[in-house]
Amino acid sequence: MANDKPYQLPLPRARGRAAEFYAFCKNHELRFQRCSDCGAWRHVPRDMCAKCGSLKWEWARSSGRGKLFSWTTATQPMMPQFAESVPYSPAIVELEEGVRMVTWIVGLKPEELQLDMPVKVVFDDVTPEVTLPKFERA
Ligand SMILES: [Zn+2]
Repeated sequence: MANDKPYQLPLPRARGRAAEFYAFCKNHELRFQRCSDCGAWRHVPRDMCAKCGSLKWEWARSSGRGKLFSWTTATQPMMPQFAESVPYSPAIVELEEGVRMVTWIVGLKPEELQLDMPVKVVFDDVTPEVTLPKFERA
């Protein structure tokens, strides 16, 4: 979310296919690879389909809707940059397309999180170059 202070938290290493993923995020589009042969979605980005072995795929747009699959709550900052963020809850969201991703849930306190809670993507422009996909209650 917009903030007056410079962004202090670690940024993703956007190289290769991951750079393509984050370039879509910068356009506020959540896209994952979808196999052109069997239709399986996948994340994190990789060249081969784990289901059928195909090397043919496309970047397909996700609905951005899913559910809270799992989370943990950090009460101690593991890095000094997180001191102002605790307590926070790194989460795994399962999208409607079946892929799961590690992310942040925004707008809710850790004690408000519920298993299978419906969520939808929101895009956080954390720096002029980097946009992170996060999720809020749907
Ligand atoms: Zn496949």
